[in-house]
Amino acid sequence: MTGMNILAIGPHPDDIEFGCAPLLIKEIKKGNHVKMLVLSKGEAGSSGTPDSREQEARAAARLMGADIDFMHFAGDCRLQHTPENGFRIAAEIRKFRPAIVLAPHTTENQHPDHTAAARLTRDACRFARYGGLEALQPLPVHKVDNLFFYNITQHVGYKPDIVVDISDVMKEWEAAMNCHHSQVKHKAYIDLQQTGARLLGLAIGTEYAMGLFTNDPVRVDEISDIILSSRNF
Ligand SMILES: [Zn+2]
Repeated sequence: MTGMNILAIGPHPDDIEFGCAPLLIKEIKKGNHVKMLVLSKGEAGSSGTPDSREQEARAAARLMGADIDFMHFAGDCRLQHTPENGFRIAAEIRKFRPAIVLAPHTTENQHPDHTAAARLTRDACRFARYGGLEALQPLPVHKVDNLFFYNITQHVGYKPDIVVDISDVMKEWEAAMNCHHSQVKHKAYIDLQQTGARLLGLAIGTEYAMGLFTNDPVRVDEISDIILSSRNF
């Protein structure tokens, strides 16, 4: 299905690019419409200013062919899992009406904002469908079909629920990550992400791959709808 809306949520200006951009680039190439929603300007980062980091993210979105919007909560390191913050994201979901929503994984990793963003997004997907919620009036209710979680830092041995071949968009992914000059000049973030993708590619018999975690069971009509194989070794 093309012409589908896909919403990717990132707590900081570079999370989406590092965590799931290849999947989005593939969808955009297919004709689907992607919007990136960033919940801070990375104000607490050791490098870059809020303005420069916003510009880096805007450049990456332009390169990918995605729309991008910024929301301001209490700032980097202060993102809180509260119903009110969930309502604000739910309002964005009702306006954009995505079939798929992507958020960082819910398990704790480095930055507490990542977990808060994951929980807020999961709540917001529910709130968006509740017709009686005063806070979301008069926006029409919207049901998100699928909520997936991405890993901002891929690591060895993790087992995602869905693994996607991203070999054909590695150049575009690198270019999107490279837009974040303030971040990539200090550490080999790009190399780390590419290495993780290479390792995961081994699991499905492709050159590179990226994984996602599902919030709900993956539903298919018949098992024969699953036509690709990972059993290549
Ligand atoms: Zn982050």
